[in-house]
Amino acid sequence: MDSFFLFLVALIIALILGGIGAFIGSFKGRASTGFWLGFFLAPIGWIITVLLPANPANLGKVQCPYCREWIDEDAVICPHCRSHIEKETEEEEEEKKEPEEKEEPEEAEPVEEEEFILPFLNRKPKPKP
Ligand SMILES: [Zn+2]
Repeated sequence: MDSFFLFLVALIIALILGGIGAFIGSFKGRASTGFWLGFFLAPIGWIITVLLPANPANLGKVQCPYCREWIDEDAVICPHCRSHIEKETEEEEEEKKEPEEKEEPEEAEPVEEEEFILPFLNRKPKPKP
């Protein structure tokens, strides 16, 4: 076997080791880091990848605007500081639009409070002072 063939074999093995490292790192949002650690250090790199702190930004986490802790992006209340997280989701935006549409016809036909209530109460309006 010549040296070039050995180099190719070593490269393929390193790529496989890196792939395993990337797989381990993907659980922590660090697939690329895991790949290179596995590529160069093999099992030692995998252990380092396991020991690395997770990268929350790649795991669907967002930072709490109040205490800056990483929380689930769907969280409504922060588990760290108990703050209510207000988010502009598509559903909330639709809910906000609905009342505005309902208000428009009311503004077009203004009904005075006395005229609306008095026929049901059957009372004369009190004279204004
Ligand atoms: Zn918080």
